[in-house]
Amino acid sequence: MISDNVSLKTYNTFGIDATATSFCNITSIEGLKNVLKANQNTPLFVLGGGSNMLLTKNVEALVLHINLTGKEIIKETDDFVTVKFMSGENWHEVVLWCLKHNFGGIENLSLIPGNIGTAPIQNIGAYGVELKDVFVSCEAINIKDQSSKTFIKEDCTFGYRESILSLIHI
Ligand SMILES: Cc1cc2nc3c(=O)[nH]c(=O)nc-3n(C[C@H](O)[C@H](O)[C@H](O)COP(=O)(O)OP(=O)(O)OC[C@H]3O[C@@H](n4cnc5c(N)ncnc54)[C@H](O)[C@@H]3O)c2cc1C
Repeated sequence: MISDNVSLKTYNTFGIDATATSFCNITSIEGLKNVLKANQNTPLFVLGGGSNMLLTKNVEALVLHINLTGKEIIKETDDFVTVKFMSGENWHEVVLWCLKHNFGGIENLSLIPGNIGTAPIQNIGAYGVELKDVFVSCEAINIKDQSSKTFIKEDCTFGYRESILSLIHI
């Protein structure tokens, strides 16, 4: 459902009371595709955890709040586990969940603000560990035609706080 004139105060960590011209809480991929299809000529603004933005004025766009949640163990062997997380999961909660399940590898990245869906964009990192060290792939939706594309690690050209995903603009 799209709402008009929504305050973004609780959606950015600075708590700035900027207003979005319109706002949609995205809770399913199907819903995301439908909203994208129905708003092809509308300026869009993708909002994750809202921790890496300083809103200096109202957002004259349709804000898509990525609130897709879910986690699924895809594969587990004696040495490795592959877990799929939906992009709206909070990153630190993901780290805590992995620790709880005894899945090591990302504990150095605890307390980094934001959502997991945003993490590959800048290849988050801390204390000698970066997302790329554990990243397998991510599935993205093309805003223009709503098609899905899977980016494997080699596609992403991860660098220091950057990736090919940081070059993609709306
Ligand atoms: C106090 C503090 C400490 C930090 N420490 C670290 C650190 O140690 N290491 C580090 O690497 N980073 C660090 N960061 C940076 C920050 O945590 C990352 O940039 C984080 O990944 C932002 O996530 P977010 O979901 O809050 O993004 P947002 O603020 O919601 O969005 C940031 C950008 O990504 C876009 N975006 C968001 N979600 C999606 C999506 N699903 N698909 C496409 N585009 C999207 C938005 O349009 C926007 O342009 C820190 C930030 C803060 C504020």
